[in-house]
Amino acid sequence: MIPISKPFIGEAEKQAVMAVLDSGMLVQGPRTAQLEEKFADVCSTRFAIATSSGTTALHVSLLAYEIGPGDEVITTPFTFMASVNAILYVGAKPIFVDIEEDTFNINPYLIEAVISPRTKAILPVHLYGYPCNMAEIQKIADKHGLIIIEDACQAVGASFQNKTVGSFGTGCFSLYATKNIMAGEGGMITTSDENIAKRCRMIRNHGMQRRYYHDMLGYNFRMSDLHAAIGLVQIDRLKDFNEARKSNAAFLNTHLKSVVTPKVRPGYVHVWHQYTIRVDGERDRDAAVVKLNELGIGTGIFYPVPAYKQAHLAAAGYGDLYLPVTEHLVKEVISLPVHPQLSQQDLQVIVEGVNQL
Ligand SMILES: *Cc1c(COP(=O)(O)O)cnc(C)c1O
Repeated sequence: MIPISKPFIGEAEKQAVMAVLDSGMLVQGPRTAQLEEKFADVCSTRFAIATSSGTTALHVSLLAYEIGPGDEVITTPFTFMASVNAILYVGAKPIFVDIEEDTFNINPYLIEAVISPRTKAILPVHLYGYPCNMAEIQKIADKHGLIIIEDACQAVGASFQNKTVGSFGTGCFSLYATKNIMAGEGGMITTSDENIAKRCRMIRNHGMQRRYYHDMLGYNFRMSDLHAAIGLVQIDRLKDFNEARKSNAAFLNTHLKSVVTPKVRPGYVHVWHQYTIRVDGERDRDAAVVKLNELGIGTGIFYPVPAYKQAHLAAAGYGDLYLPVTEHLVKEVISLPVHPQLSQQDLQVIVEGVNQL
C-alpha cells in the first residue's frame, strides 16, 4: 500500500535525538530556542514560541488574547477538530462560516454576516496547505477590530501575496508526525506582537517568568528538546520537502482525468499537505475509496463530518446548523498520497488507479 503519509526519519534526525540525550538538557533547552529562532525566520515574524502540540499552540494563543466565556470566534467547520476544540477549551463560542468550493477554506464573503458585539477573533484554517484569502479576512478584521489567529498547522511555508502564513495574525503550527515538517509531536506560535509573545511564553510554562513565581494561571505545554532536535533537522529540509510535494501535485494535476482536481489561484503558494480530489456527481465516494485501497493506493477523508455535527457540538445545540458547501464537500473529498517519499512509480500507480474511477 502506498501510504497517505510517511514521516521522513533520516540519520540526522536520529543523531540529533541521541545528542540531546547525551547532553542531559531534555526540556525547553537550547534546541527549543534554536527551533523558535528558525521558525520565526521562516514565517518572517519577530517571535516564535514552541509548545507541546499544534492544539496547545491554538489554546495558548486564544488565552494570550484573553478570549474566554462570552466571546465568539469565527471559524470553519471543515477542519481537524483541534481548531474548534481550542475555542471550546477557553470557554468561547465557535461561530461557523461556510467554505469556498475551490479552496476548501473559509469563505471570507460570508464572515461579516455573523459578526456580533461578542465577536473577538477570526480563526481561519489554511486547510491542506492552501492559504486562506487573507486580504479579505484582514480587511474585515481591521474594519471590526478583530484578532486573527491563523491555524497554519497544515501550511508551514505557504504564502498569500508573498506574505507567509502565520504572519498575518498570530500563527499556530503543528510538528505532529504527519505534517510537512515534524518533530514527532510539537507546536509553534508565531507573532510579531511582543506582549502576546510574552504572554504565550508564560502560559505554556505555568505562568512563570521567574522560576516559582507564578504571575498568572498557566499550563505545562512545553516542548521537549528531544522533539526540538528533530524539528531543527526537519526545518532545514522544509524547502526541499515542499518542492517535492508541489512537483508531485503538479504531476497528479496534469495526469488525473476522471475527478475534480485542486486548482491553485494566482497569488497563493500552496504547500500540499494534502492533495484532495472530489468524486462528484452521482459517483459514490466511499466505493471509490474501497477501490483505490484495493489497488494499493492509500487514501484519507479529511474530513468526513462538519465540525458542528461532531457529538459534543451537536449536543451543545449546533445540530441544526446546515452549511451547504461544507455538507456537500464532506461527501466528495478524497485525499491521495502527495508526500515527498513517493516514487515516480507510486505516482503512476495513483494516476492509473484514479483514472479508472
Ligand atoms: C494537526 C492539526 C492541528 C493540531 O495539531 P496537533 O499537533 O496534532 O495537536 C490543528 N489544526 C489542524 C488544521 C491540524 O491539521
